[in-house]
Amino acid sequence: MRKVVVAVGLPGVGKSTVLSIASERLRERGYAVRVVNFGDFMLSYLLQRGIVRSRDEIRKLPLATQRELQELTARAIREEFEGVPEGRFVGIVDTHAVIRTPAGLWPGLPLNVLRELRPDLIVVIEASPEEILSRQLRDSSRVRSDYSSKQLLEELLTTYRYYAIVSSVISGAALVVVVNRENRAAQAAEELVRAIEEL
Ligand code: ATP
Ligand code: AMP
Ligand code: MG
Repeated sequence: MRKVVVAVGLPGVGKSTVLSIASERLRERGYAVRVVNFGDFMLSYLLQRGIVRSRDEIRKLPLATQRELQELTARAIREEFEGVPEGRFVGIVDTHAVIRTPAGLWPGLPLNVLRELRPDLIVVIEASPEEILSRQLRDSSRVRSDYSSKQLLEELLTTYRYYAIVSSVISGAALVVVVNRENRAAQAAEELVRAIEEL
């Protein structure tokens, strides 16, 4: 078994938190797991070249730069997953279905990216706009001010699903929505693990 799971959700919803718990649970059940953060790949490339200083600056770069790096990153992740020996392997990509850039909404999982990643499952992690806002405010390690208005988050929640649905249709990946309730990240992780075990 070799499965690729792509996890998406609005900034601050709790993707990285839920995925870290889910990966532990999967390991306890005997899976080899690799969680790769798409933004980490982009960031290390850009840091090496002195183009940005932090991950929250990436989405503000010229779109042509982001697009080029997006495809490079997808290929690098695919290669990393292919390097893992056969077996009960689950590769999880922590990423975004859509990114709010100065040029407009931009898909995180367009066709060329999906061709590289070849996901079996797309998981949309959701929470209420109020919960996302309060999580963003408590997390001083990040700059998510371009996503921190309740009205914007309300609009983006629906839009976000649409982008994820389109990526599911064009890739043939299953799609599941997991709600990351307040102080219940472990429960969200369990739901995700159950969906992965059904692949
Ligand atoms: P980004 O897309 O910007 O990387 P993210 O979706 O990965 O964001 P996290 O960094 O995992 O979000 O979480 C944002 C903040 O919310 C963190 O401080 C985290 O501890 C907190 N958090 C995550 N899940 C929950 C939860 N279920 N209840 C309360 N706080 C949570
Ligand atoms: P994150 O830590 O998940 O917020 O990722 C940091 C940044 O990486 C995001 O704000 C985006 O600028 C970028 N990023 C992550 N995933 C993608 C993707 N699939 N396509 C393009 N950019 C991405
Ligand atoms: Mg994250």
